[in-house]
Amino acid sequence: MSTAAHECLFCKIVAGELPANRLYEDDELLAFRDISPKAPFHGLIIPKIHIATLNDLVPSHAALAGRMFLVAKELANEHELPGYRVVVNTNSEGGQVVFHIHMHVLGGRQMTAGLG
Ligand code: AMP
Ligand code: ZN
Repeated sequence: MSTAAHECLFCKIVAGELPANRLYEDDELLAFRDISPKAPFHGLIIPKIHIATLNDLVPSHAALAGRMFLVAKELANEHELPGYRVVVNTNSEGGQVVFHIHMHVLGGRQMTAGLG
């Protein structure tokens, strides 16, 4: 499933057309709080460019994708999370609902061991 950038929820947040509780921003990346948090801290990290899913990453995105992990680490540090979980749901079968690639950062409670 693909979503055109002009009708993409997260592209609208990047453009400032929809509100978000912003946590971090630079030229390439934006992080904001998930509207329906699954943990006391639940951030989403997205690239500002529209990339639909993990499957749409290409080698030229390598630095961008890598920097998403660095932002996750910075958010965890800033919000004093001793441990946290990073998730990238991919395609509807993987639980993806918003088709603009995003990294969930979950913390502030004990995460269950494993992924159960
Ligand atoms: P996923 O299931 O991985 O596609 O996750 C999409 C996430 O986006 C969900 O956790 C939603 O709660 C979150 N979400 C949807 N709309 C918004 C919004 N306007 N602002 C912040 N988070 C949102
Ligand atoms: Zn988008």
